[in-house]
Amino acid sequence: MNIETAIKQALRDIPDFPKPGILFKDITPIFYDQKLCTQIVDEFIARFETKPDAIVGIESRGFLFGFLVANKLDIPFVLVRKAGKLPYKTVSIEYDLEYGTSKIEMHEDALQKGWNVIIHDDLLATGGTADAAANLVKKLGANVLGFNFVIGLDFLGGEKKLINHSKNITCLVHF
Ligand code: AMP
Repeated sequence: MNIETAIKQALRDIPDFPKPGILFKDITPIFYDQKLCTQIVDEFIARFETKPDAIVGIESRGFLFGFLVANKLDIPFVLVRKAGKLPYKTVSIEYDLEYGTSKIEMHEDALQKGWNVIIHDDLLATGGTADAAANLVKKLGANVLGFNFVIGLDFLGGEKKLINHSKNITCLVHF
């Protein structure tokens, strides 16, 4: 079975979660299958054109494969969290949601200037979160080499928001 089929078979659709009208793509069953997890990590790594200096993972599901990939590549892993969760000095960025705004943060010493990083999350929807994470990376003087997602919801057009940062956008499965 190819990796795309295996991921699609493992995913679970939850209608109306966390609010009415959202079809939530639940990735948790992927983690019941350790062979599939290894395949996913290897697939992300195989698609890199250049080895990044660090992986940046977006809270919280971006931590899962992001950390595994960083660890396998033997490079640092950096956490992007919602405002108020990181204990040390932070840099932050505010971004628009469908209704209102949100804020994400990174530790100010997490990235070195000039580093080339890959940003990880589980799913690309409108691209707002990943775009904000990319702006945070740039605020620390690092470069965005690309984006990795397990799932891309193509009909929401998130790629358009990210393309200015990097054309290197990987989604292992598309809907
Ligand atoms: P966005 O900023 O619109 O690209 O939203 C991406 C973030 O929201 C990711 O961190 C996803 O985990 C989460 N998300 C958005 N839509 C869904 C969905 N349909 N199923 C699961 N997670 C979603």
